[in-house]
Amino acid sequence: MSGILEGKRVLITGVLMESSIAFHTARLAQEQGAEIILTAFPRPTLTERIARKLPKPTKVIELDVTNDEHLGRLAEVVGAELGSLDGVVHSIGFAPQDALGGNFLNTPFESVATAMHVSAFSLKSLTMACLPLMQNGGGSVVGLTFDAQYAWPQYDWMGPAKAALEATNRYLARDLGKQNVRSNLISAGPIGSMAAKSIPGFGELAAVWDDRAPLEWDLKDPEPAGRGVVALLSDWFPKTTGEIIHVDGGLHAIGA
Ligand code: NAD
Repeated sequence: MSGILEGKRVLITGVLMESSIAFHTARLAQEQGAEIILTAFPRPTLTERIARKLPKPTKVIELDVTNDEHLGRLAEVVGAELGSLDGVVHSIGFAPQDALGGNFLNTPFESVATAMHVSAFSLKSLTMACLPLMQNGGGSVVGLTFDAQYAWPQYDWMGPAKAALEATNRYLARDLGKQNVRSNLISAGPIGSMAAKSIPGFGELAAVWDDRAPLEWDLKDPEPAGRGVVALLSDWFPKTTGEIIHVDGGLHAIGA
């Protein structure tokens, strides 16, 4: 049986640890027939080590999404490897420590700016850097958010950064639709990754899921989010763009 990404070429950012949502996305994408290329931050060696645990070997290239030189040469480097792209996965988030964990009212703008640059603006920069490779009938861009409709405990300036990411997703959908490039997000429930562990008091936030999510939620399982990303990369959402699909055990639907 052929997979839902058979014949697709996909660039995947954000593989850092085995707990990374992007690692499971990469694994599932290969299982579903995609040829993938990974980008790495802060060091390719870290990502290369984790990439050895994937079903098939894959090339890893260095990419800091805030580095214009890295972005400028991305299409050429990826083009030389894969020729073209059908999909791009943005699985990137970062905020300095003083922008997280209950310090919302005192965070300096410099830290807010970093969070916005890495976590929101980068969806646009990454997409534009890859756009020259998606001229062959279009493509699918998929990012990861944490529901920005609400103020959460401890999440602080990552909240406004995710709100900016969600808006950026809609504007990309608006401006790239003519080229048949879709842009969508998976809104994931909490997962115990590196990014999550760097949020002081993350446990408090995660506990909300134990209390209220209609479907049982496993903090240690990034696979459901990865499955959502793979579905959006596939041809099974051909007319969906500017959308946010919740993979959160249904918590977003519950008021109290
Ligand atoms: P993770 O720590 O495994 O991944 C975060 C990634 O961001 C890392 O691979 C890191 O290398 C990358 N990154 C940070 N700064 C970068 C930069 N300047 N350039 C390029 N890459 C950079 O954690 P994760 O939970 O897999 O996070 C992936 C995405 O999922 C993030 O957008 C995160 O906000 C989102 N998300 C996570 C959760 C959760 O609870 N873990 C929930 C919803 C959404």
